[in-house]
Amino acid sequence: MPRFLFLFLLLLFMAPHDAARAQESGGSGSGLTVIRDVEIEKYLHDFGNPVFISAGLNPNSVKVVIVRDPVLNAYVAGGQNIFLHTALIQATDNARQLIGVIAHETGHIAGGHLARGSSAMKNASLQAILSMVLGVGAALASGDPNAGAAVITGGQQIAMRSMLGFTRVIEGSADAAGMRFMDANKISSRGLLEFLEKLGAQEVTPVDRQVEYARTHPLTQDRIDAVRAHVEQSPYGDAPVSAQLEEAHARLKAKLMGYLQPDAALLRYAEKDPRINARYARAIAHYQKGDMDQAVAQMNGLLKEEPSNPYFHELKGQILFESGHIREAADSYRKATSLMPEAGLLQAAYGHALVETHDPALLDEAVNHLNLSLRDEPHEPSTWRFLATAWGEKKSEGMVAYCLGEEALARADNGAARKWAERALKLLPKGSPYALRAQDIIKEARQNEDDKNS
Ligand SMILES: [Zn+2]
Repeated sequence: MPRFLFLFLLLLFMAPHDAARAQESGGSGSGLTVIRDVEIEKYLHDFGNPVFISAGLNPNSVKVVIVRDPVLNAYVAGGQNIFLHTALIQATDNARQLIGVIAHETGHIAGGHLARGSSAMKNASLQAILSMVLGVGAALASGDPNAGAAVITGGQQIAMRSMLGFTRVIEGSADAAGMRFMDANKISSRGLLEFLEKLGAQEVTPVDRQVEYARTHPLTQDRIDAVRAHVEQSPYGDAPVSAQLEEAHARLKAKLMGYLQPDAALLRYAEKDPRINARYARAIAHYQKGDMDQAVAQMNGLLKEEPSNPYFHELKGQILFESGHIREAADSYRKATSLMPEAGLLQAAYGHALVETHDPALLDEAVNHLNLSLRDEPHEPSTWRFLATAWGEKKSEGMVAYCLGEEALARADNGAARKWAERALKLLPKGSPYALRAQDIIKEARQNEDDKNS
């Protein structure tokens, strides 16, 4: 039954400025909901980076992808992408459990349990990777993995392996590698043990809610025993996680609950609860329920407590943007970007708000920040679209065509990418940098089409 979820979920993506309201992204017509959120991604990297480094991976090239899904699961796909379902994150009780899950997935990456991503996947956006991953869901829905395998080609095979799940031997080796990476950082593997035991204890809950993780990562008593034996002999078996990481975990859970279960969040985090996490969850829940005034008031209170928190400024900006206060939103985003200039999604949100002011005096600033965003997130289609809008307001047809070409390429819509890039070539000055890049887009799109057909 969980297999069908891949088919019937709409292909929805969170725009960076709009983590709450999902945005239709087109593509294969079926798909996953991915949550892009600077703060959550930062915390997940804080948890995972030591492990990634010990595994010999560059932490900047590992993507930790948050999938909005009530089914508890985690998997790796498309090279160095670790997918964590929101249900799994929410099911962890503390930071070390989440670190344990991430370390296990890292064990799969480091062990080469997946084929390398194709060149098309390397250049594609996460969105495009997911739509490749999703072809697999369609095949699996037939109920016969072998029948499905026959129709899967190219990059989809990569995901196929992760979706079908690993063998018990591979699971054991991913656990062992994950625990080695944690030991190397003096992190206790007890979190992994706790999480596996929790899954084992879940056997009484409805099958469709708990089995997915166990299907992709077969869970056996042998496996739990091996992890327990390691924890008991490791000198770091009882090493505590830093207070800072535990706080990040608590905040992450509060934020997710505010977004995903606003009514439950308002009950769980009582009105009188003075803790910042509780107030944060409530602010998000009010915002999710459309109660913008309460949400802004709550954020103003939180900003008094943590005036340099970029995520608080970001959320306030988002609430203001969605309630039509574009200039005030831009002001909040400006503060967020000045506190965290390297975060591409914040730069994109700021640039987008500036474009939406429709103030010609702010257009250059908008273009500047959207370009800064693309340094960090070069394949984010929505940013290219905002940039196209900005160039449209600046009356540059050539740049509009060029940006739409980049956008289409990032979405892996190769036909549209070629069409827009060819138009850009006609309009832009011969030999200019953007004209040269338009030529590259045409080449890349052709190459991607050839890869697909071969
Ligand atoms: Zn596994």
